[in-house]
Amino acid sequence: AQHQALLYQAYHNELEALYLKKLAVLSELKKVLSTEQSELCMFYQPKLNIKSGKAEKAEALIRWNSEKLGFVSPELFIPIAEQAGIIGKLTDWIIRRVIRDIADWQQQGIDLQVAINLSVHDVSDDTLLAKVIHYLQESNVSRAKLSFELTESDLMQDPTKAIAHLNAIRNVGFGLAIDDFGTGYSSLSYLKDMPVTELKIDKSFVLNLATEVNDQNIVKTVIALAQRFGLETVAEGVEDQASLDLLTLLGCDWIQGYYISRPVAPAALIEWFNEQSLPSQTLINKET
Ligand code: C2E
Ligand code: MG
Ligand code: MG
Ligand code: MG
Repeated sequence: AQHQALLYQAYHNELEALYLKKLAVLSELKKVLSTEQSELCMFYQPKLNIKSGKAEKAEALIRWNSEKLGFVSPELFIPIAEQAGIIGKLTDWIIRRVIRDIADWQQQGIDLQVAINLSVHDVSDDTLLAKVIHYLQESNVSRAKLSFELTESDLMQDPTKAIAHLNAIRNVGFGLAIDDFGTGYSSLSYLKDMPVTELKIDKSFVLNLATEVNDQNIVKTVIALAQRFGLETVAEGVEDQASLDLLTLLGCDWIQGYYISRPVAPAALIEWFNEQSLPSQTLINKET
């Protein structure tokens, strides 16, 4: 009984610590959002087109380096922002920043389609689309340069409602991806009606692809499914050449992962991009 009491106490302490941490994150996040002092920035991770061998797309991923809390993972603070009802403000900041970065790259001759992650709450915000279109016009960036990602589990919370919102986004001409596909228990009958252009295979199936036969079978099946529906496939979490080779063989369209590049700051992305487009001769010279 004493042992159990100790266990309970440990459990209780852990829960309390987590709760306090979440409170601290929320309070700091509110401060950051109200002062515009930028502890926030956007990183970008290229997506390689397997057919052309070129990075033609990128995903925007938020980074928060808090003066008080240190680096805070989006996996922690995005759900907190959602629950606290402040995700709209954050998403607005993200969209404006991403469009500004795309406009900067455009001026330097770099042509990338960038995907922004949205939460369910964002999608049901009726003012979102008008705002995005306004920001694009302001910066002279075409709609074709922007797309959105929504996780499968978010979409499946209320599929009928989600389909209506997604239709609105698609009708304006933005690309749409189902993110983390394979982890959210999609029903195929809904998938058929989801007006999306891309399926992103969750990294849990990709990280050990080279050695796990079960993962290979899942990835094979998802790619075949996507092809049936006329959707492009993106594999996230590609960390080695063997996985890249397998995905190429299986007919995956896009590759994203540390093996290509980690998510990086805008300046580093430009550097990476320019290096990729150099003739191989120049690359060899550079290393010697
Ligand atoms: P996600 O949209 O599925 O993003 C992919 C995550 O996988 C990113 O984590 C990325 O850094 C990571 N990743 C990419 N390649 C590899 C790899 O080869 N190996 C491994 N182990 N990981 C890889 P990150 O940046 O920590 O973001 C986590 C999640 O937080 C995202 O998952 C997304 O759901 C959310 N998130 C990130 N930025 C934003 C944002 O701007 N807005 C919203 N609403 N959510 C965001
Ligand atoms: Mg994503
Ligand atoms: Mg994902
Ligand atoms: Mg994810």
